[in-house]
Amino acid sequence: MTDSTIFDKIINKEIPADVVYEDELALAFKDINPQAPFHVLVIPKQRIATINDVNEQNSHLIGHLYAVAAKLAKEHGFAEDGYRAVINCNEHGGQTVYHLHLHLLAGKPMGWPPYQDTKKGLI
Ligand code: 5GP
Repeated sequence: MTDSTIFDKIINKEIPADVVYEDELALAFKDINPQAPFHVLVIPKQRIATINDVNEQNSHLIGHLYAVAAKLAKEHGFAEDGYRAVINCNEHGGQTVYHLHLHLLAGKPMGWPPYQDTKKGLI
């Protein structure tokens, strides 16, 4: 089992969060530092540290996170215009909380590529 994070405290209602969805497998709540007009984190209640820890036993949870994201996007009116639904992994992916979470970002056009590198020849 990986180390506990702040998200366990949110799951256990030990610290507050603006919860927008909950079921037996997942919880979705507003990001404390939103990067889009609508920025929700969808997390499994079971602690999975990173995408590297996804396996045949728990991969159904990842599908469920995307099903929840799609449901929320539809409910909040973002399905047609579109949105970003991403999971960051480890340092280069920009992960800061080691309890896997899906970012659902919506309400404005997203840029691509997701970063701009001033050095040449990295890709
Ligand atoms: P990561 O960088 O790991 O992909 O994303 C972690 C996200 O969790 C960040 O967007 C950050 O703003 C959010 N976050 C960190 N701590 C808290 C918290 O205590 N409450 C909420 N609602 N969001 C948090």
